[in-house]
Amino acid sequence: MKILIVEDESSLQELMQLYLADYGTCDTADNGAEALETVERAIAADQPYDLICMDIMMPEMDGMEALQKIRRMEFRNTEESLPSVKVIMITAKDMAKDMMSAYNAGCEAYITKPFSREKLLEQIRELGLFDAAQTNCQ
Ligand SMILES: [Mg+2]
Repeated sequence: MKILIVEDESSLQELMQLYLADYGTCDTADNGAEALETVERAIAADQPYDLICMDIMMPEMDGMEALQKIRRMEFRNTEESLPSVKVIMITAKDMAKDMMSAYNAGCEAYITKPFSREKLLEQIRELGLFDAAQTNCQ
């Protein structure tokens, strides 16, 4: 499985890479704008991501704006029947309204910081991505 970790704190970026290394290939982006470019490149190369773990509070472009733009980009590509990437928002924003906005913008899951490895893996399992990871390994 192809994973993109979008997080402006490098220590957390590294921690998530460590958590997810056994489950796929991890790329990283430091902000929403970089994430958008990376996702666009992956789609153009016909190697789209399966999972994006995205922070909300980041410089240049925040995670909410990036999520909306990624969904719009996928919508423009529907003629090629592109499967949409699963997006887990991982954020310190723990208000119900923030969670609602994120789901409205098109995320599949929402995790509040601090979070455990188990919590993250449980969410990924619930999204049905571990089967895809196994298939890709064969
Ligand atoms: Mg942040």
